[in-house]
Amino acid sequence: MCGCHDTDESHDAETQKIVERRRLVQGLAAGGLLTAGAGLPGCSTNPETGRSQLLLVRGEQLSQMAAASWADVKSKTPTSNDPRYTRRLKTIGDRIARGANKHNERWDYAVFDQNTRNAFVLPGNRVGFYKGMMDFADNDDQIAGIMGHEVGHVTGRHAAARVSQQMAGQLAIAGGTILGGSQLQRRCRSLPANQQRACFQRASQNTRLLNGALGMGISLGVLLPYSRQHESESDLLGAKYMHKAGYDAYQSVRLWEKMAEASPSRQPELLSTHPDPARRARDLHNYIKAQEDLGSQGWDSIKT
Ligand SMILES: [Zn+2]
Repeated sequence: MCGCHDTDESHDAETQKIVERRRLVQGLAAGGLLTAGAGLPGCSTNPETGRSQLLLVRGEQLSQMAAASWADVKSKTPTSNDPRYTRRLKTIGDRIARGANKHNERWDYAVFDQNTRNAFVLPGNRVGFYKGMMDFADNDDQIAGIMGHEVGHVTGRHAAARVSQQMAGQLAIAGGTILGGSQLQRRCRSLPANQQRACFQRASQNTRLLNGALGMGISLGVLLPYSRQHESESDLLGAKYMHKAGYDAYQSVRLWEKMAEASPSRQPELLSTHPDPARRARDLHNYIKAQEDLGSQGWDSIKT
């Protein structure tokens, strides 16, 4: 589950992912929070990234919910049985999983028979690649770069973090509405009786506006940068796993340079959930170079 590798051709895939994400959040709202709250600390440090994360849901819960989304997307989008794609992807995936020290877990791969330059991962180690993504890559190393990125979403626990963020956002909206509403209502009650009715009407309108503003603030102020942070984090984790798996990590730089050349017109980066491809290439290059300069101390973390 990620927003990644966005190109002009991938709007359908993006929409599909948003629908899947929404379904996950709806599933959680229907009872996930209580289960997650039992025995799960709110914040924990991710060993792969060294970052603190708010986690309100367990990976296994997400994995169970994602099973339906995975089956759904495979039934609605034609998949390829061509071993030149499927075998190639599995070979690269298993190598990257080993590089990420995740080879003892079960991984599912699917190649979708569409000319879209995109790939995604759903909770439960389910990795989907569109044929267009594989065709766009010059070599196995570049595919390994995308695979590494997807595995980075898994080890970065980005799905659980993002869903937890959404849940926390919903709670904040509810909290803000109650606060704003009760303050306004108290003010209305202090007014003379003949002015109270109009005041209560204004209060309820204000509550609706407040609700909307908070919701928008959360989407733009929290969710967008959060998502871009995950993309950048996954890029670096991906390069690390490429290196550990014996691939040439610099090929991930080349891939994002190619992406930048292929999709020159983009919305301003500030409004986008995805980092600019040229910037991704630069950040990856700087990270890989820094690891090489560190010598035997390199490739240990994603800190630059
Ligand atoms: Zn991604």
